[in-house]
Amino acid sequence: MTDCLLGTLKRVTKAGAPAQSGFNIIVGDQMDNAIKSVYETVTARDPDQPEFHQAVEEVLDSLAPVISEYPEYIDVVQGMVEPERVIQFRVPWYDDEGNLHVNRGFRIQFNSAIGPYKGGLRFHPSVNLSILKFLGFEQVFKNSLTGLPMGGGKGGSDFNPKGKSDSEVKRFCQSFMSELWRHIGANLDVPAGDIGVGGREIGYLFGMYRKIANEFTGVLTGKGLSYGGSLIRPEATGYGLVYFAREMLATKDKSFAGATVAISGSGNVAQFACEKVLDLGGKPVTMSDSSGYIYDTAGIDREKLAWVMDLKNNRRGRMKEYAEHFDGVEYTESKPEPNHNELWSTNVDVALPCATQNEINAAEAQMLVEHGAIAVAEGANMPCTAEAVEVLQENGILFAPGKASNAGGVATSGLEMSQNSLRMSWTREEVDQKLEGIMVNIHKNAFETAERYGMPGNYVAGANIAGFLKIAESTMSQGIL
Ligand code: NDP
Repeated sequence: MTDCLLGTLKRVTKAGAPAQSGFNIIVGDQMDNAIKSVYETVTARDPDQPEFHQAVEEVLDSLAPVISEYPEYIDVVQGMVEPERVIQFRVPWYDDEGNLHVNRGFRIQFNSAIGPYKGGLRFHPSVNLSILKFLGFEQVFKNSLTGLPMGGGKGGSDFNPKGKSDSEVKRFCQSFMSELWRHIGANLDVPAGDIGVGGREIGYLFGMYRKIANEFTGVLTGKGLSYGGSLIRPEATGYGLVYFAREMLATKDKSFAGATVAISGSGNVAQFACEKVLDLGGKPVTMSDSSGYIYDTAGIDREKLAWVMDLKNNRRGRMKEYAEHFDGVEYTESKPEPNHNELWSTNVDVALPCATQNEINAAEAQMLVEHGAIAVAEGANMPCTAEAVEVLQENGILFAPGKASNAGGVATSGLEMSQNSLRMSWTREEVDQKLEGIMVNIHKNAFETAERYGMPGNYVAGANIAGFLKIAESTMSQGIL
């Protein structure tokens, strides 16, 4: 913030009623201008980072009433849109034919005010600084919401694991870790998986870390059970999402029992969301991958889900094969436009987007409204565009932002860190119970915070404000940005 702006802000007094939302609501022109100015600095500094701008705008849009109550927190806002540290490095590796490839590796250490940096690694050709900064920024709030002592970070590479042999993936992971290891540590920065980084990749990364660092610590989460992993970690994001959605539905006296559910994606989050929906008596009818989606009106039951898990986790096949294998299933190819298809035009009660960012735009949100959906809970990070969220909220659809509803994964990573520090393992039931308790609390916190700030039912505002308050308090107490 400029000195001039800072001076202005210090003189701002609390406005009368809390704002409803957005820059246009007046909590004092100076306050609005101060928040706008933070956003303008972000966009001017990195004009080529649209995903990061989108994530920052969504958060800033919620913070006016908090800054109105605590004007001094504007300093925290200004500081927290800039990562504490950005690490970029080259990752050279040889394919099976002996050809050299050089990918880019990144680690964004975004905020450590409440604990060591924590957040996944994504291996996908689309990975760049904009996407990782958006994910890292979201992670800061998400981790705060879990109530566990974890700061926020994110990392990854533009490496595409699809179509690579096991040995190629291993050589890549080893090369990636041969640089990353010097920047991470059990009390410093603890990465985990994300898109393209599952159990296999975490194993190779952990093995290389252990060899170079010459120590066995909980430096990564999502590890295999035989070397320090936690039960329920693979299930945690999907299960947690459905626990959160269950709580949200209950506020309107609804439940998953008998509900029809659209799920996108067919990876880690989608698979276990599907499993938990079945546990709660719901009927999942869609799943997808980047090539297209299946619509199974009879419902994806446990047997079919087991088939999908084998297809995706072992045979690394495509969802198209589901429609070829089971009767009465429609398969529709994705639109040429990246990330989009007709999946959201199915008749469902609940939608759980679990694939990737910006997969539901305003038109697709409108389709959900028209087809009778009552709730949308994000399993992926930012799968709904800002315009889509607006459409859903304007039409009274319950909407859960990913930073609240998909926090179960990182929460269970936090539980894995605790077990590693204690050198103990908790049972499946113990971990699941803790996960459920955390998700119920996140829901309660977001719900009550939204009410307190005059925006009842607005989980976006509730989650942003609740996550922010803890970080702001910690930052101010420590006296350093
Ligand atoms: P996976 O790699 O296991 O699965 C991703 C799924 O999404 C696949 O079905 C993939 O299809 C599909 N997908 C990926 N990119 C695109 C794209 N550009 N267009 C359409 N479909 C796409 O990842 P996860 O399930 O772990 O992660 C899914 C989402 O959940 C991500 O947004 C991630 O950040 C978020 N998340 C994950 C957590 C976790 O614990 N794993 C925790 C919190 C959030 P295909 O195989 O064709 O690429």
